[in-house]
Amino acid sequence: MSNEPILGGHALRRKSHAVHVRWGGQLVTIGGDAPVRVQSMTNTDTADAIGTAIQIKELAQAGSELVRITVNTPEAAAAVPHVRDQLDRMGVMVPLVGDFHYNGHLLLRDHPACAEALSKYRINPGNVGQGAKRDTQYAQMIEAAIKYDKPVRIGVNWGSLDQDLLARMMDENAARSVPWEAQSVMYEALIQSAIGSAERAVELGLGRDKIILSCKVSGVQDLIAVYQQLAKRCDFALHLGLTEAGMGSKGIVASTAALSVLLQQGIGDTIRISLTPEPGGPRTGEVVVGQEILQTMGLRSFTPMVIACPGCGRTTSTLFQELASEIQGYLRAQMPVWREAYPGVETMNVAVMGCIVNGPGESKHANIGISLPGSGENPAAPVFIDGEKVKTLRGERIAEEFQQIVSDYVARKYGKAQASA
Ligand code: SF4
Repeated sequence: MSNEPILGGHALRRKSHAVHVRWGGQLVTIGGDAPVRVQSMTNTDTADAIGTAIQIKELAQAGSELVRITVNTPEAAAAVPHVRDQLDRMGVMVPLVGDFHYNGHLLLRDHPACAEALSKYRINPGNVGQGAKRDTQYAQMIEAAIKYDKPVRIGVNWGSLDQDLLARMMDENAARSVPWEAQSVMYEALIQSAIGSAERAVELGLGRDKIILSCKVSGVQDLIAVYQQLAKRCDFALHLGLTEAGMGSKGIVASTAALSVLLQQGIGDTIRISLTPEPGGPRTGEVVVGQEILQTMGLRSFTPMVIACPGCGRTTSTLFQELASEIQGYLRAQMPVWREAYPGVETMNVAVMGCIVNGPGESKHANIGISLPGSGENPAAPVFIDGEKVKTLRGERIAEEFQQIVSDYVARKYGKAQASA
C-alpha cells in the first residue's frame, strides 16, 4: 500500500473578477467566489414577446440562472421591454442577456427601453463592423453598457472571428523565421480578439468587474487549448461553451468532455450548453445537461440524483428501468417546489438497482435505495433508508409505494432542516 493517501477533487477555481448581473431584487454573480452558473438561450423570435416570455419561463423554471435572447431587429428590440414586463408579471425575475450582432450599436441607441430591460449585453467583436466603423460601433456598444450600468460578455466565436485581425496575424506569422501552424494562429487570434476587445472596453471606461469573456469553438481539443491560455492571460470572468455542439448524445458528450476538463482545472465561471434540440423537443434540455455536468463533477447540486445500474442478464424485466426513469422524472418535476420548501434536497441520492449483486450495497450508500428482484430471486424489493433496511416492497404497486417513501423522506429530512434554520 502507498504511504500517500489518494486525494480526489478538482483544482481550486481560477481567480476572476466577480460580475454582478441584476434584475429588480434578483442578483446573479458570475465569477469571483460565486458558484459556476448555468445559462441558456431561447430559440423563439424575440419580436413574439409572449412566445419568448413563455420559453424564458420554462428555461428559468428548469434552473437557468440567466437567459439570453436574440436582439436582431428593431421589432425584436421593441419587444424586449414587453418580454421583461410579461416575466415580471409572472414573477420570473431571471436576468435577460441581449445577443447583438452587426446592428447592436443602433438598436441600443434607438431603443433605450430595450437597453434598460436587458441585464447584460453580449457583444461579438467579430460582428460589429468592418475597418474604421468597427472601432466606432464597438465603442458605441460599450458606451451604452456604461450609460445603462450593464455588464457585457465579449463573446468571440471562431465562425465570426474578426477578419482584419486574423489577416494581420496571418501576415505576421508568414514573416516568422519558423511560421506557426495555422491552427495556432487561429487560437492566438481568438484570444487576442477577446482580450484586446476587453482592454479597449476598459480604456473606454467599463470596469473590469463588468466584463465576461468567451472564445467559443466547436472542437473539444480546440476549446480546451484556447481556454487554458485565455485563463492564464487575464483575470476576467469566463463563460464556457462548446459552440454548435450538435444534437443528441454527440452534443452532450462533446460539451461534457470539453467543459469537464476545463472545470476540473478550475477554469470557467458560467456555462452554456449549445445543444440542438430534437425536432419538437424541449429547449430546457440544455439547462439539464449543464446542471448535470456541474453536479456529477461535484461542483454544485441542483436536483436529487438517481443512481441506477445498467441492467444485465440478471434483470428479469424492464421494471427497474421504468422505476429509475419514473423516479428521476418525479424528482426533477418536484424541484420548482422542493427547492424552496426543502433546502438541501438537491444533494439527495436515490439508488435503483436491478438485483442483489450490487443492489443492497449501492442502496445502503444512497439516502434511499431499492434493490429489485433479479432473475431467479425472491420477488421482493428491499428498501434502504440512510443505510438501514426499513421495508420490503412486493406486488404490482412497487413504483407508487417507492415514490411515496421518497416523498415522505424528503418532507421528514429536509422539512426539518428548514424548520430548524
Ligand atoms: S446490479 Fe444486478 S442487474 Fe444491475 S447490472 Fe449489476 S448484476 Fe446486473
